[in-house]
Amino acid sequence: MRLKLVAGNWKMHGLRATNRALLDGVVAGIGDAAGVECAVCVPFPYLGEVAERLAGTRLAWGAQNASEHAQGAYTGEVSARMLADFGCRYVIVGHSERRQIYGETDVQVAAKVAAVAAGGMTPILCLGETLAEREQGRTRQVVEGQLDAVLAANDRSLFRSAVVAYEPVWAIGTGRTATPEQVQEVHAVLRSRLLPETRILYGGSVKPDNAGGLFALPDVDGGLIGGASLVAADFIAIVRAAQGKG
Ligand code: PEP
Repeated sequence: MRLKLVAGNWKMHGLRATNRALLDGVVAGIGDAAGVECAVCVPFPYLGEVAERLAGTRLAWGAQNASEHAQGAYTGEVSARMLADFGCRYVIVGHSERRQIYGETDVQVAAKVAAVAAGGMTPILCLGETLAEREQGRTRQVVEGQLDAVLAANDRSLFRSAVVAYEPVWAIGTGRTATPEQVQEVHAVLRSRLLPETRILYGGSVKPDNAGGLFALPDVDGGLIGGASLVAADFIAIVRAAQGKG
């Protein structure tokens, strides 16, 4: 049985005061979140404060990136070991915004997954095709290629605990969600390449009104939630959907 995971990706949003209000709302609203794991992945400067606020609660926390390098002259970078030093549990790796805006390559993403896992944390590996790639009928080829790069550099057993998030680029922040059929089709491909226990999340405009349908799909084990994770009531409703109470 795979425990569902609902992970928020705050991206580059929030300030100390708004973070506090958001976390207070989410922690109160999710209650014991029975049967679901919940987390928020927050910007680096807030890790320490968020860790303190969430200690002893049902809401775990994580980061949105980590360097593939262990340490050294990499100005502006944050190592996996530094994140682990704060007690970080999850690290998003290879988000499409990092691949597209910052030019992260498949090889870099594979090295980041290795660094995060070596630090004892859980990578959330993001994969997904652009709209042009989907329209060219290349979805499967693209996501399998992204996965292959990670599997070439890491043992498949890493996916006993590492999490995969299928995030079609055209559905991120657009309000355009993949249909349940499109989601299940890709998740089934990923499942065939991973392990029965690997958690495969869907991400891309998940909202309270579509979460229940997506989470009911056989190979969907929760969601990576961007915009809706910034609104306490929406994130709480999505957690409830993962509990089957949507
Ligand atoms: C994301 O940032 O990973 C994401 C899925 O964003 P949104 O939910 O806003 O589409």
